[in-house]
Amino acid sequence: ETMKILVATEKPFAKKAVDGIRKIVEDAGYELALLEKYTDKGQLLEAVADVDALIVRSDKVTAEVIAAAKNLKIVVRAGAGYDNVDLAAASARGIVVMNTPGQNSNAVAELALAMMIFMSRNRFTPGTGTELQGKTLGIHAYGNVGRLVGRKGKALGMNVVAYDPFIADGAVFEADGVKKVASVEELYRVSDFLSLHIPATAQTKGSIGYDLMMSMPKGATLVNTARKEVIDEEGVARAMTEREDLKYITDIAAGNQAELDEKFGKRVFATAKKMGAETAEANVNAGLAAANQIVDFLKNGNTRFQVNK
Ligand code: NAD
Repeated sequence: ETMKILVATEKPFAKKAVDGIRKIVEDAGYELALLEKYTDKGQLLEAVADVDALIVRSDKVTAEVIAAAKNLKIVVRAGAGYDNVDLAAASARGIVVMNTPGQNSNAVAELALAMMIFMSRNRFTPGTGTELQGKTLGIHAYGNVGRLVGRKGKALGMNVVAYDPFIADGAVFEADGVKKVASVEELYRVSDFLSLHIPATAQTKGSIGYDLMMSMPKGATLVNTARKEVIDEEGVARAMTEREDLKYITDIAAGNQAELDEKFGKRVFATAKKMGAETAEANVNAGLAAANQIVDFLKNGNTRFQVNK
């Protein structure tokens, strides 16, 4: 019997991505099913009933969805964050869950750089701004996104430093001409622009706040394209109240964003909706990677990108 792969997307992939996914799936001898722009979970529960594999974007793969998918072997979240998939429910059934790391990194990195320029030019309103060239760019976590931000910062003439305690190999930083600093305190102390790329974990949640922000150089800007949970929002607000030179821009609106906007005016900015990974290229890359990973898993048992090991 032919394996069936379902693409379930409330917010569909671009046509180019769907065409590419179809080719990968059909070339492998499998069948592709599509459920796009569905409006209630009943449609999803029905669509997953007989599928072997599932590709989603931000769609919620709950315990109920997993229970309804009797033949399901693998779920791939086309993207980086996978907090929309109930990992415990999947693991309990022995279902493999994967993400597609690295596929949207360039989109996020370009947004981080754009945010720096936007803030240093008064959010594109009249007035004298400052330049990125010659400034120190600090990168907090040197993973897929952090590395790209580092290389692009170098290309703009910035002095780039980074901190990532989980990368022991100094050559990773040296290859990009980036200086590795020894502590998170040192990183913030020297950074005119601080770009956040840490994941939201028990260790990082609420970890960026008053003390770190207060230690930053005069006129410094904190740029957040990571997660809102890593910020101590009250602490950031307090630091910005005490220091009228500090700025904060985020791709993930703070819980107290209205208060920040009201209090700090042009010194803060939040995108209307998370847009770091929202490029045509990132969508296509992530969709194709998801399809390739499913075929490689079903044919060869490759679990390289499994997140529920
Ligand atoms: P990644 O997994 O490639 O890199 C994460 C890095 O963080 C790793 O190098 C790891 O060593 C480091 N790290 C982990 N814990 C740390 C700690 N306590 N202190 C310092 N470093 C630590 O992830 P990525 O693709 O670079 O993405 C980074 C984060 O950005 C993701 O976790 C996600 O939350 C966020 N993200 C946001 C968007 C968006 O649309 N704005 C899109 C993609 C990713």
